[in-house]
Amino acid sequence: MENNDANENTIVCVNCPRGCRVRVQSQNGEITNITGYQCDLGIDYAREEFKNPTRILPTTVRVKGGELELVPVKTARPIPKASIGEAMQELAGVRVQAPVKRGQVVVEDIAGTGIEVVATRSIALSQKENNTGNKKETG
Ligand code: SF4
Repeated sequence: MENNDANENTIVCVNCPRGCRVRVQSQNGEITNITGYQCDLGIDYAREEFKNPTRILPTTVRVKGGELELVPVKTARPIPKASIGEAMQELAGVRVQAPVKRGQVVVEDIAGTGIEVVATRSIALSQKENNTGNKKETG
């Protein structure tokens, strides 16, 4: 019986600024041919992306007592694309106490991936919180 489950995916290699468009042909989920790369890194990247696509997840989480209500965050390393929905749900429930420092870990193990989520900017205490703190110190 003839099997028509053949596909071609184009994957942009991110290993260098050339950004080669690597074409992966497959049949029944198995790679049959890879073209469009200019070095072996492109082959490895395309194979890995085909089997287990991953992404850095940039988003925001809420801040308590900060000068801003949200802090931008990102995963410290790429996480499987399949885990992004669960990660977003988890992050929706996170509240970080100000002050927040750039690079601070806000979640240690996002969506069971073992990968940290870190703040990408600092958020100072709000003036209101600062004033409350000052009153406590002086009063
Ligand atoms: S295949 Fe090689 S040359 Fe092309 S983008 Fe990837 S690393 Fe760069």
